[in-house]
Amino acid sequence: MQIAMDGPAGAGKSTIAKCVAKKLKITYLDTGAMYRAITKGVIDRGICFDDQDAIAEYAHQAVIAFKGDQIFLDGQDVTRAIRTPEVSAHTSDVASVPEVRKVLVQAQQQIAEGTDVIMDGRDIGSRVLPNADYKFYLDAAVSERAKRRYDELKAKKALDGKTLADIEADIEKRDYLDSHREVDPLVCCEDAHRIDTTAMTIDQVCDCLIEIIKKPKDEEAL
Ligand code: C5P
Repeated sequence: MQIAMDGPAGAGKSTIAKCVAKKLKITYLDTGAMYRAITKGVIDRGICFDDQDAIAEYAHQAVIAFKGDQIFLDGQDVTRAIRTPEVSAHTSDVASVPEVRKVLVQAQQQIAEGTDVIMDGRDIGSRVLPNADYKFYLDAAVSERAKRRYDELKAKKALDGKTLADIEADIEKRDYLDSHREVDPLVCCEDAHRIDTTAMTIDQVCDCLIEIIKKPKDEEAL
């Protein structure tokens, strides 16, 4: 079974995808972590964000590996390092480089081959798994998404002086870049179930998805 989950930043995709993966005992793949890892490598090498050729060249040679919840870049554990505000702020730039997308989409499709998987990202239903058995698009009001991200960073003591308004502005900027880039922008596929999570708890969203997945396909069409 292959499940695609897309949506804007802070809509709860990774939390929900992990929950669904656990309940269905299938693999979870965080594709955003792969774009973040390439961005970390680009920063570490001092590559300029305007230099698309150098970014593309690096993407071809970078080695990304997952071990449980950890992600490794060129043999180094970067699980925490890819969540810094600096990496978050630049990932949309790196993710807009067509060659980066080509390399990562290919790697994601290879991981999915012959595996029961739920992947979250921006182009999963439209590009990575166009024939997925189920497609979901999670959304929420930007104020709610910003509040969730603010609370998360506050709990981790990782606010770095950012206010709620700063975080909302960052999210709006990222959504704009992700949905306006030329290659594989964020879209809600026609065949995706669109779920607004603004007023829902994590358990409610997870139960809603499981209900859709468990419902016989002929009933779904009614
Ligand atoms: O999901 P997450 O917020 O960690 O993703 C970080 C960034 O990676 C997104 O803002 C987007 O620019 C990029 N991304 C993407 N395609 C994906 C997953 C993430 O372009 N499939």
